Amino acid sequence: MPLYAPPTEFPHLPAANPGLLAAVVRGEARLTPEQALDLFRSMPLTALGRWADARCRAIHGGSIRTYVIDRNVNYTNVCNARCTFCAFRRDGDEHDAYTLEPSQILEKIGELVAIGGTQVLMQGGMNPALPLDWYVRLLRSIKERFPRVHVHAFSPPEFIEFVHFFDPPGSTLEEKLRWVMVRLRDAGLDSIPGGGGEIFAPAVRRKIGLGKCDAEAWLTTMYVAHTLGMFTSATMMFGHIEGHADRVHHMRLVREWQDRALAEESDATSPRGHYVSFISWPFQRENTPLGRVKDWLSRPEDSGEFPGDAVARLDGSGDPKAHAEFGRRVRMSGSTDYLRTQALSRLFLDNVYSIGASWVTMGPHVGQVALLHGANDMGSVMMEENVVSAAGTTYCLDEAVLCRLIRGAGFTPAQRDNVYDVLRIHDGPDSPDLRVTDWSRHRTKRLHVERKAAGVPLTVTAAES
Ligand code: SF4
Repeated sequence: MPLYAPPTEFPHLPAANPGLLAAVVRGEARLTPEQALDLFRSMPLTALGRWADARCRAIHGGSIRTYVIDRNVNYTNVCNARCTFCAFRRDGDEHDAYTLEPSQILEKIGELVAIGGTQVLMQGGMNPALPLDWYVRLLRSIKERFPRVHVHAFSPPEFIEFVHFFDPPGSTLEEKLRWVMVRLRDAGLDSIPGGGGEIFAPAVRRKIGLGKCDAEAWLTTMYVAHTLGMFTSATMMFGHIEGHADRVHHMRLVREWQDRALAEESDATSPRGHYVSFISWPFQRENTPLGRVKDWLSRPEDSGEFPGDAVARLDGSGDPKAHAEFGRRVRMSGSTDYLRTQALSRLFLDNVYSIGASWVTMGPHVGQVALLHGANDMGSVMMEENVVSAAGTTYCLDEAVLCRLIRGAGFTPAQRDNVYDVLRIHDGPDSPDLRVTDWSRHRTKRLHVERKAAGVPLTVTAAES
């Protein structure tokens, strides 16, 4: 009998019932998908944000909010998928296709360590030219040179392609994934990022994630990682062709698989893992094929229900034929839609420890407000980012600015590691933000510069600050 048991659902109660929501805040009740959708659609943002903030404080307390110093290294932009929302991918023969040399990756990690970084996030396109040995040697060399750096790398779609590229032994996807993952873990892989989650509902995923694995494969990859004792994150990219019910369905799958992971973990004799965080962000449209799709209500003939809502079902069974314009219209997400979605994720995902604010897509100040709408973590100081910036969104913050944003929201900033253990609490005068005496000058400094000399397109690196 597993020790873990999820909170009880009360499906007969209205979603906005204060008693129900107070029990959700205490961790004693669980929202049903129907209640979650109802809250999302009808509760004012201020109220939804307050409930999410209360739940966040119940889990994380009211004093500290965290960030991590890591570096996002996109080791290749060559990819055999053709996601319509992606401005980053290239075919192998395009003039600006690249694959970083292992020595370049090590150099980047060296720069990360020099500013106190603890983690490298490595994700790439799905590059069929790279053999398994390339990854094994890369991971070994990182661990040899930087044994204390946590390697958070290779999202589920990459792992699924590893299975296709390397043809590992095994009769099931789980067995094949385990074979590859054990080799990468033994070479130095510590945990797996939740990239490529997008929207799980098949109707949406088939339209936007061309060549990318389906939800079952994504979730199975994470399950295998959990059985091997790894911690992972989950993500969602919304604000495109999906309906609101698709967002709830996506979170529902994360919650269900997390229940399984936690139940097995509580009953296991060997180390197991689970999802430690959930981060959601809106689609960024610049330079992407999906971004050229017309906005809903931008033409006089657009009327009635948004096509994505007409198709979406809470169980993921939406039929794309339910609306003739499905996939041909986007509903972009702004700040309030983002905050509503994030707040709902805090209330709905009762079994996920951390909710991350996405200042990388929303900007620093919406990221700051997100700390009052359910988020407990500001993510990372941004030394380098290539994927979202390729889609037209570029915000780079150093540690002092990140700490200032957290303090400005009413919390004490604290640096954390990959599993959310606090490394340093910045409550004294030597805190990165409190050492800055002239913010106007600090702001005008360039935090990052394009790096051209190494011949690595789409790459930025830390400059003097
Ligand atoms: S989002 Fe990732 S998998 Fe999809 S095309 Fe871009 S690089 Fe490839």
